[in-house]
Amino acid sequence: MNEALKFLKSTLRLPSSKFPPRPPPEALAKYISRCDDLYAWQSRERPADDTFTLHDGPPYANGDLHVGHALNKITKDIICRTKLAQGKRVNYVPGWDCHGLPIELKAFEKNGWERGQGVDPVKIRGAARGFAAKAVEKQMKGFRSWGVMADWAHHWKTMDKEFELRQLTVFKAMVENGLISRRHKPVFWSPSSQTALAEAEIERDWHVSTAALVKFRIPALVGGSAEPVHAVIWTTTPWTLPANQAIAINQNFKYLLVRSKKHGNMIVAHSRLQYLNEQLEEEAEILKVIPGNDLLDCTYSGLSQFGEDALNRPIIHADFVTEEDGTGLVHCAPGHGEDDYYALQEFISSGRVAIKAPVNDKGEYTDAASPAEPSLLAGKYVFDAGNKAVLDLLRSENALVSTYNFKHKYPIDWRTKKPIMIRATAQWFADVSKLKGDVLASLDDVSFIPGTGKSRLQSFVDHRNEWCISRQRAWGVPIPALYHKETNDAVLSSESIEHITNVVRERGIDAWWSDPPNDPAWVMPGLSAEDYVRGTDTMDVWFDSGTSWSLMANLDARNTQTKALANVYFEGSDQHRGWFQSSILTNIAFQKAMNPTTKAYAPFAELVTHGFTLDGQGKKMSKSIGNVVSPEQIIAGLTPQPPKASGKGRVLHPLGPDALRLWAATGDWTSDVTISDKVVTNVHKSLDKYRVTFKVLLGMLSDFNPQKLVGVDRMLDNGFLIHRIALLQLGEVVERVRHLMHNYEFHKALAHINEYLAKSVSSFYLESVKDSIYCDGDALRRDVAQTVLYHIFCQLQHMLGPITPLLIEETYDFTPEAIKDFAGHPHQRVWDPVSEEWLRDIAGWTEFDSHMMQINTCVKAAQERARADKLLGQSLACEVEICLEGYDVNAKDLTPEHMNISNWEDMLVVSKVKISSGNEEVFDQLKALRSAREAEEANQRAVNEVIQRSNATEGNELELSESDAKRREVFWDEEREVLKAAIARQDVNEHEGQAWAFCEWTELESATTEGRALAYVLVRPPSEDKCARCWRYAASKPAGADTPALCGRCQGVVGEIRSDQAKIEENEKKQAHAS
Ligand SMILES: [Zn+2]
Repeated sequence: MNEALKFLKSTLRLPSSKFPPRPPPEALAKYISRCDDLYAWQSRERPADDTFTLHDGPPYANGDLHVGHALNKITKDIICRTKLAQGKRVNYVPGWDCHGLPIELKAFEKNGWERGQGVDPVKIRGAARGFAAKAVEKQMKGFRSWGVMADWAHHWKTMDKEFELRQLTVFKAMVENGLISRRHKPVFWSPSSQTALAEAEIERDWHVSTAALVKFRIPALVGGSAEPVHAVIWTTTPWTLPANQAIAINQNFKYLLVRSKKHGNMIVAHSRLQYLNEQLEEEAEILKVIPGNDLLDCTYSGLSQFGEDALNRPIIHADFVTEEDGTGLVHCAPGHGEDDYYALQEFISSGRVAIKAPVNDKGEYTDAASPAEPSLLAGKYVFDAGNKAVLDLLRSENALVSTYNFKHKYPIDWRTKKPIMIRATAQWFADVSKLKGDVLASLDDVSFIPGTGKSRLQSFVDHRNEWCISRQRAWGVPIPALYHKETNDAVLSSESIEHITNVVRERGIDAWWSDPPNDPAWVMPGLSAEDYVRGTDTMDVWFDSGTSWSLMANLDARNTQTKALANVYFEGSDQHRGWFQSSILTNIAFQKAMNPTTKAYAPFAELVTHGFTLDGQGKKMSKSIGNVVSPEQIIAGLTPQPPKASGKGRVLHPLGPDALRLWAATGDWTSDVTISDKVVTNVHKSLDKYRVTFKVLLGMLSDFNPQKLVGVDRMLDNGFLIHRIALLQLGEVVERVRHLMHNYEFHKALAHINEYLAKSVSSFYLESVKDSIYCDGDALRRDVAQTVLYHIFCQLQHMLGPITPLLIEETYDFTPEAIKDFAGHPHQRVWDPVSEEWLRDIAGWTEFDSHMMQINTCVKAAQERARADKLLGQSLACEVEICLEGYDVNAKDLTPEHMNISNWEDMLVVSKVKISSGNEEVFDQLKALRSAREAEEANQRAVNEVIQRSNATEGNELELSESDAKRREVFWDEEREVLKAAIARQDVNEHEGQAWAFCEWTELESATTEGRALAYVLVRPPSEDKCARCWRYAASKPAGADTPALCGRCQGVVGEIRSDQAKIEENEKKQAHAS
């Protein structure tokens, strides 16, 4: 490079930024630790009376983090950071759910213990606590590594002493309010877990049961028959027959007395006779019609082997008996069925029937199943050997009419996936029916996202009357009940719980298990300590986590809650039946206990639910299918770029946790969110795009001082229209994105951001301002450009801040000091609405915008063809003529308000633009082609209609017409190419000495006038010389051969620099003289 060129280069202001293409891992660690600083800063600096509280639904302290955790925690963080940007103080204290069976099982597994071996509960609790504590540490580390901003130091755990004491206080209030009672009644029981389960812990799955038709003898004469008569019942759980206590019929049905050759006289509902015949494999003879009512006077007897209480049983009416299946006579075992239990209430209270459930915790028959001869059934697991033994017994007694396999949805334990049973045991219940009215009323003040959440939660609350809150586990908060040694009567009073809570406060909760059984300290004064023992049941873990609202309340002050405690509860939609419900129930129960007459409030003002994470095919992720994707895989990109084969070159490390965060924000979380290669690749592409954009912006702003910010009022000059447009586009996207983020619609916000970056920033504005930024001197034009770039930079930080906070931290680190001083930290700034001036309409802009895009597309296409022929390199090396049909130079009908030619040149990044009315002959040719094509299309439509009307058999004709259409498409494409070439040739002929030209055309849609105007562009070689400094072809040949050619603008800039330098040199000389 000669000296002159070197000098010219030194006069350019080329962008400089060290912003790296990828975040180095050590830098990431620094940015992540700043999340804690940010939380601490805003806890101090933001106003306490404008606090936004997101109350954390505690994840279970078990296992590795998965993408479901990522979706949950990151979306919460985006919400919190959005609120922070609105100027609020954020209160987000993460918590963990630590008690319960899965952790207890892990403790067993780890220590090689077996259930039923009588392992000391103190040992179990110690091991479980250790396991949970480790899991919490590990998960917390993971959450923090995702850039989640929270008060980690004050995180809470349901196994914290403070938490347990609060929980006992809430429980005590419910006891005081008469909501807690102990009852012997059927509950969901999981033999595989050996504990009672709540509705929320149950799933349903396909299961094949043995259905059986069984006959029970009715001893009295029925229907005048002299021969024995049987009631024939249908059951899918033959193992419950030893607990049979009654038969239910529907008194409104007609019943029949029928005779079977094989099975004798039987009673069946009239409508179920055909079914019975199918089972009998014979046509039973109808003897008599019996009104349902008549059967209610009869009794029947089950097998005597099932015990004395199987004999002389009542037949009752129940509405649940339908004509849809079975025989119209239903076997009732109140110890094994909730419907049966309720239908038989009257008989239970009179002692006529017993709540018999001769099955132990493990699901095996007890001696009571066949009392006279226990060995018949005792010890047999009811779901296989027990069921079979009962059927064998029935068969041997000639009481079995038929059996067959019956596939149906059956409840299973959500943890072990094994079938559960309904079994009567003594359990503690919360009577939530008393709270229903208040809970449902409180939901009217709650806003739900999505809106369907309301009816969902309403229906769960509405359908629940009782909540079984006791569990037979060691790892949990004890039900603070004492039992009388002799009578087994329970003491669960306010005073006793108060006393026990105080002992827990003093000794810790483990002492409940570790203190000697006769330790008198636990028994409140007034009871004789030696008569009582402490209970071993623990509370349902949903009760634990459900009381987490108490962390936000003052439990000592009575009834101080006058509104929701948290602004937002945000969890997966499965929590409608879990945590959301247990939270609102316990919160409202507490308020009602404190003051029964005042209005109660839900703990959340806004209830937001997200869906599940699914694989690319929409399948739920599971280890067994092998489609599980881990958060780390998303961070790395599912198919990370392989290192170069040579082993040389830069190995690309991943883009960091922002990639995971961007994935979480990209999906519409109100329904299920999918993970596929495509989704993750796009996320990485977007993140790369953000990085590149920031790098360019930082480069262009490297010498900017915000003191030079130019107001919008000074951008109205027609030379600045392009900047005014950029500001309008920025303002519009910012307002849209602000609004969407406010509504938590992050995926829509991102779509707008991405479209804005692609359409308005990278391919339009950044290209347009390059020349000004690099080559202008101290010109207002350059200040205006940098002003707009500065606004884009700051607003992009705002828009992406909550979603990719680490990237924004990084941009801050690389921000020039002058801008840092002026703008402050992007995460600490309040994101105010943009100035209304930005959004002020530019006359005719909307229509012009689309015309501009169309013309830009044409120019780019023509340039591409020139490049393909190796006639064009950089875009500046050409000139463009825009030819508009009927264009009137004076009317300026393509030019909104202030557009001038220099704007066009900047936008199209070409050296010269001319707008003209073009060549009439060319327009005629274009119109002729358009008409011919339109006629052809109309003809084709007519032909298609004829084909459709004649209703030709589908297939061949349509296929033919499709291939015809394709052929025609090719034909028209060829016609277009021929015409373009002809126009270009004509242009070359018209301009003497011009080597080449390329043509493209389009039709400009007009919003105001009818019809479409034709426009064509011609791209030609430049007519002037290349400026050696800015490379625009706008220079005249220099006089001397060794003097580089310069355009007018560059001459001015260089001249100024030279004279400045001369002045400096002169000054230096003067100073040298003086000294
Ligand atoms: Zn120049």
